[in-house]
Amino acid sequence: MALRLDSPVQFLRGVGPRRAEALARLGIATVEDLLYHTPHRYIDATQVTPIAKVREGEEVTLVGYIVSKGVLPTRKGLRIFRAVLRDDSGLIECAWPGQAFLDRTIAPGQLLLVTGPVKHFHGRQVVPREFVVLADAEEAGTGDDSRRRPTTADEESLGAGMVLPVYGATEGLSHRQIRRIVLDHLDEMVAAVEDPVPAAVRSAAGLLPLRDAFLALHRPSSTAVGQGRPSSVGHRRPTSAFTAGGGGVEDGRRRLAFDELFDLQLVVARARRLSKAAAKGVRFENRRELTSALKQRLPFELTRGQKRAVREITLDMLGTERMHRLLMGDVGTGKTVVALFAMLLAVENDYQAAFMAPTELLAEQHGRTIAMLLAPLGMAPEILLGRLSSADKAAARGRIGAGSARVVVGTHALIEEPTAFHRLGLVVIDEQHRFGVEQRAALIAKGAAPDVLLLSATPIPRTLALTVYGDLDISVLTERPAGRPVVRTGVRAGADRGKAYEFIKAQCAAGRQAYVVYPIIEESEYTDLRAATTASADLARRLKPHAVGLVHGRMKPEDRDLVMRAFRDGEIAVLVATTVIEVGIDVPNAAVMLIEHPERFGLAQLHQLRGRVGRGTEESHCILVTDDRAALPRLRRFARLSDGFRIADLDLKQRGMGELAGSRQSGGVALRYANLATDGDLLVAARRGAFDLLERDPALRRPDHAPLRRRIERRYERGIELFRVG
Ligand code: ADP
Ligand code: MG
Repeated sequence: MALRLDSPVQFLRGVGPRRAEALARLGIATVEDLLYHTPHRYIDATQVTPIAKVREGEEVTLVGYIVSKGVLPTRKGLRIFRAVLRDDSGLIECAWPGQAFLDRTIAPGQLLLVTGPVKHFHGRQVVPREFVVLADAEEAGTGDDSRRRPTTADEESLGAGMVLPVYGATEGLSHRQIRRIVLDHLDEMVAAVEDPVPAAVRSAAGLLPLRDAFLALHRPSSTAVGQGRPSSVGHRRPTSAFTAGGGGVEDGRRRLAFDELFDLQLVVARARRLSKAAAKGVRFENRRELTSALKQRLPFELTRGQKRAVREITLDMLGTERMHRLLMGDVGTGKTVVALFAMLLAVENDYQAAFMAPTELLAEQHGRTIAMLLAPLGMAPEILLGRLSSADKAAARGRIGAGSARVVVGTHALIEEPTAFHRLGLVVIDEQHRFGVEQRAALIAKGAAPDVLLLSATPIPRTLALTVYGDLDISVLTERPAGRPVVRTGVRAGADRGKAYEFIKAQCAAGRQAYVVYPIIEESEYTDLRAATTASADLARRLKPHAVGLVHGRMKPEDRDLVMRAFRDGEIAVLVATTVIEVGIDVPNAAVMLIEHPERFGLAQLHQLRGRVGRGTEESHCILVTDDRAALPRLRRFARLSDGFRIADLDLKQRGMGELAGSRQSGGVALRYANLATDGDLLVAARRGAFDLLERDPALRRPDHAPLRRRIERRYERGIELFRVG
């Protein structure tokens, strides 16, 4: 029976229950999953050197049989694993310092491919950077047979083009076993593939048919190697993925990358069409009452960016279509006041405006800022927080329901059942990515087609914005208000930590406050938490009499808020924290931020953290403490940059979009093949193709678009909903 994409892998020859279980651990249940389990890197064996021709100082790739092996301790206590490799032309020793454990994997008789530099220790030696077992002793033929030269059969296992795919493996299933399974069934599996992208779209973008793309990725052909365009850097494994395969592999990657972007743009284009077509928005009038009053009474001049954003938002709100706009700007660029202009435009049209923040602390803070700005107008915001007493909450809800509360600031309490608005005309959502789609929708549903303004303190490059926020219009704030000092950033070694602590102590003595940040990464959560706890105790001792507080992700939110408030109110001088510090938290007196293990953060994330200081008028400092030499260039470059957009760009180029898009993963965006830093052309083609396609078939109802629907369904659980309505 012919294979189908949804056939369970267990039905494949060579896959029994045990292997099926191992594959399941890799997220592979069906034939389609297996096809998409593309190699995460390739080893290019097109340039195999005969062992006799190996010269010291060269980088070589060798293929040969293991004739002997052993572990050799050195005088310095380092254990070196050594193995002798033989081909037709001669013998050479390979040495793996400090990798004695290889003794368990590498055995005489195996056919091995190694790549690495040739050095001279005890004679010529290869120090493998990589090695791959091409065949085990039985497959390769043992004993006397091990003298034979590698045969065509062995070369076949390299793939026709001698470009060796290396697969992500798991316990109980080696990458070689996976390669065997894939190669054994590749043609059969590929025959089941239907190309969901219309041929016209595909050829306009110069892309391989989907079947050929899978062939190119799983079985790169020798002829294609090096013929394609220079391979770009895969975002997952920046240094190795997709680089070695050359044209064939790269063409395959481009096709799958295009597909990701195409599917995503279809979802985005559909969302945009629906939101534009949905109930007409409120058509506000520019009465220039409250908005003009605010402009006159502002204690500062708006930046150019703020003025532009206010203009863009005003135009949206005056139009008939609903506003669906994202205001993106670094921390401290003054998004709140821009939002306030929009809120007052709604209010002077007899509507209510709601501003929702992700935490109580942030809501309080915005409440205070807005109260300060509104006071000269004789107005005050209504604040609705979960921690208010039930009597206070009920009273606030009474005013919101009656319509006497016009500018409303709050937390999730705003979307709870009992909150009903009298006439909600504008919804502002701060740190919008911290809310789920449903939560944002819940607030919007409290009005009849209110305008929507989303705020984000995570600046992202244009290409990425088109992808993740393609359904929104975007306003950008790039400059910070004049007079704000730049945060001076320095990179220090762990040995200088004591000096940094002294510096913090001096700052505290001068009345300033400081943050000390520890990353928590899952695998070592306990160790990291211990490190943060120890550091806070240590700091408390050193900094006496200044108080030190600790916040971390395992605390109850109420307890965390208590500590944060104490810090905000100056009762605590130094706050030791895991990255749970609120993105928008504004403590102008905090002048120092020390970050431990900065190498574990993306630059955009570091920039976010750094934004916690430099919010007052005092000179502020950010100290990155690391012993990771490899990270130094990246961190030093970061230290010199202060513009969030440029940092995001750099981050995108270096690490790919994982980190940046992480903020919206819940929206279903996870690109595996596309690299937005280098695939701009694919993105543009995908966007055009997707928008055109929906012109012709808005809900993807045509039978020939069924495979496309199916794939979107598979990729974007939520996205497909959009094609079920309207
Ligand atoms: P963010 O973009 O991080 O949300 P906020 O809106 O919280 O920034 O603004 C940070 C601070 O800067 C607030 O105290 C705000 O009143 C002040 N601010 C905003 N715009 C300006 C400006 N143009 N000039 C001076 N201060 C400003
Ligand atoms: Mg803010």
